[in-house]
Parts: sequence; C-alpha cells; structure tokens
Amino acid sequence: MQTRTRMRYEATTMEDREFSVSEAPSVPEFAAPEERIMKPRRAAPADVVRPTRAEVSLDALRCNLHAIRQKAAGAKVWAVLKADAYGHGAPAVARTLERAKVDGFCVALVEEGVELREAGITGPILVMGGYYGRAYEEMLARRLTPVVYDREHLETFARLVRARGDEPLAIHLKVDTGMARLGVRPEEIRTFAEELAAHPELRVEGLMTHLASADATTTESLEHQQVRFEAASKTLALLGIRPSYRHAANSAALLREMARYDAVRPGIALFGVAPTIDGVSMNDGDLLPSLRVRSEIIALRDVPAGETVGYSGLFRTTRPSRIATVAMGYADGLARALTNRGAFLVRGKRAPIAGAVSMDMTMIDVTDHPGAALGDEVVILGRQEGPLGRDEITLDELAAHAGTISWEVLTHLSRRVPRFYREA
Ligand SMILES: *Cc1c(COP(=O)(O)O)cnc(C)c1O
Repeated sequence: MQTRTRMRYEATTMEDREFSVSEAPSVPEFAAPEERIMKPRRAAPADVVRPTRAEVSLDALRCNLHAIRQKAAGAKVWAVLKADAYGHGAPAVARTLERAKVDGFCVALVEEGVELREAGITGPILVMGGYYGRAYEEMLARRLTPVVYDREHLETFARLVRARGDEPLAIHLKVDTGMARLGVRPEEIRTFAEELAAHPELRVEGLMTHLASADATTTESLEHQQVRFEAASKTLALLGIRPSYRHAANSAALLREMARYDAVRPGIALFGVAPTIDGVSMNDGDLLPSLRVRSEIIALRDVPAGETVGYSGLFRTTRPSRIATVAMGYADGLARALTNRGAFLVRGKRAPIAGAVSMDMTMIDVTDHPGAALGDEVVILGRQEGPLGRDEITLDELAAHAGTISWEVLTHLSRRVPRFYREA
C-alpha cells in the first residue's frame, strides 16, 4: 500500500487508499502540497519514517458487526463512531461497516458527522452530543439527524425547516433516565411533548436514553432506567407521538441482551472489547480485537547491575541486563502511568517496561529474550508469535496497568501513530 500511495494524497484521504480509488467518493483526490502541510491530521502511512504504527483489521470489524447483529435480535444496529471511531479512523471504519450493511451511525459531534458525509457515507447519522452552536444549518445541509432535548433545539430547527421549505425534520428526543448528563428529565416530558406538538416542522423519529451502569454487577440501575424510559414512551404515546425507534443500549446492555428496543448503539464492542461483569467476560469469543499496535527495537544496550534506566532513575537493574529502546512514548498515547508497569511482546514473549515512559520512547528489559536484536518487532497491543512463544496484550490488560478503561486507551492513541488498514 505504501508504494501505491506514496506522498501523493493528503493525510485525511490516506485511509481511503485501502479501498479502490474508483470507489472513494467526494474527497479531493489530490490536495495541494501546502494544504497537506497546513492541515496535518494524522501521520499518513506513506509519509511515516518511524516503524511505529496501529494496524486496523477490517475483517475483525466485519466479524464484530456480525456478532453484534446476532445479539441485537432484530433491532437495528447503529455503530457509534465518535472520537474518530474510537481511534481507528472514522472514514475507513464507517465505509467498511456501511458495506457490511450496518443500519446507521452515531457520532458525538457535528464535526464528526460532517467528516463521515465527506467520506461518502450516505446512511443515517445521529449526532448525539446535542451541541449545534453555529451549525444548525449544517445539520440540515448534511442530512444529519439531531438529538434534541431543549427548547432552543426545537425552535431553531423548526425555524430553519420553515425557512428552507423542507419536509418535517426527523429528530431523536433524548430522555434523561438516570445519567444526569443530557436529556429531558422524566418529570418534564409531558411539557416538552406539548412544545414538540407545537412544532409541526419536526417529526419525532426516535426516542432515546443513555444507560449509566449497564456493566454493573447487578442490573438494578439498568432496570430502573428502563422503567423511566418506558414511562416516557407511554406519556408520548398518549399525546400521539410514536417514534419508530426507541433506543438505549450501549455495548454492555446489548451483550447482556437487555434494553434492546428497536435499535442498539454499540461502540466499544465493535472494536472487540466486551465488559467483564462479576469476573465473567461478556465476550463469548465472537468479538475480535480490531487494533494492533506495534513498533520496533531502535536501540539496544547491555547495562551492568545497579544502574538506573530512564528519567528520574525509576528502574534500577538488579543483574547485568539487556535494555531495549522502543519507538513509542506518551506523545503517541502510551499512558505514562505504564511506568514500571506492564510489558510489551518481543519474539513472542513478554518483556517488562523498565523505568519511566518518556515522550517518544519506552525502555523494556529483554535480558530474558535471547536473540533480541535491533529492528525486532515489539507489540504494544495485540498478538505476537515468535521463536520464544506466542502471547497477547489485550486492551483490558493495558487499561488495567494504566489505571484506566479501554475506551480511554483507544481514544488516546495519538495522531503521530499512522493507522494501517488490513483486509484480514
Ligand atoms: C459512547 C456512547 C455509546 C456507545 O457506548 P459503548 O459503551 O462504547 O458501547 C452509546 N450511546 C451514547 C449516547 C454514547 O455516548
């Protein structure tokens, strides 16, 4: 792929090259060189020198969509691709899923919806963040579906629809059933529905809520939110508002086969991560990790016993050691909290992180890795097989070592790390 695309395309369109050029729609094929420099977005595969990269398996995405569809049991599947598709690159992920017949997409920001339209996505796109600022007009122009929950939303969208002489605009009404983040409070649903009725320019296509604790040990909170959601739905029905799609489930609820209603909104499960509830993984084996992060050993040294490694000397050798330098640091999204915690794979075997993660590099202890050499592949996330064995660093493991959650690990992978797309 690198040779096919060498330096000719703007970074934002690099992902598209994995797909045949004739199919890549409505993106400028060639960008002026100065534009490429002025609008850096993410290191493009053809431009990078450093051997550090993230590999996205498009096949894993398709398999996960398939598994999710089974779990959805007839409900529509709307892929949540906010935050650049959880760090995978939204345009390429969206195209892959659209071809695999996903029913629609959800994003957090208007900007993210626009990016998908510009990538040629034609299916429904729900903008969940509720912040339209100066982009109300853009929402209509791009056929993005708004989530609404306050009067300003109603009035502004209604006024624009009238001014443009458009058909009634499909909107999704959000109810706050226990997250206390966005949405109409249950006790205000009736008043809000009456205001909706006064705006014939708007058509309530969806009713949604978001679950706060779908991965909790007990389902008490989830069920409590469901009760409120269904009550809101009933209130609306009494006023003649009957949305075609009621939706609430994130990945955790979906995998527990709860709150599926007419549509589900999985995010993290698409990328192969399932919550563990009460020590039991909700992944029964059909969700595959879609991201692998790899780099290489770029320097290697023998260090006597009693020496320190890295900033602030946070690691001290207790034996004559072999220390390898890996070309990935916290500026690439590797949490600095991994300092002296966790391991990378070298030659198919774990090598512990030695000392502080620095901005561009991390050191690992390869004393127990006979044959380790300059240029050896180092796996930060995912599987590796080599002469010393076969192992896997999972997102859950990486997140646990960094004291965070898989969502954050994925979305922190920085734009310095180019994403390579593989069909397999
Ligand atoms: C992020 C998000 C989702 C998807 O959550 P996952 O846990 O990643 O499946 C669904 N709905 C809303 C409103 C969200 O913000």
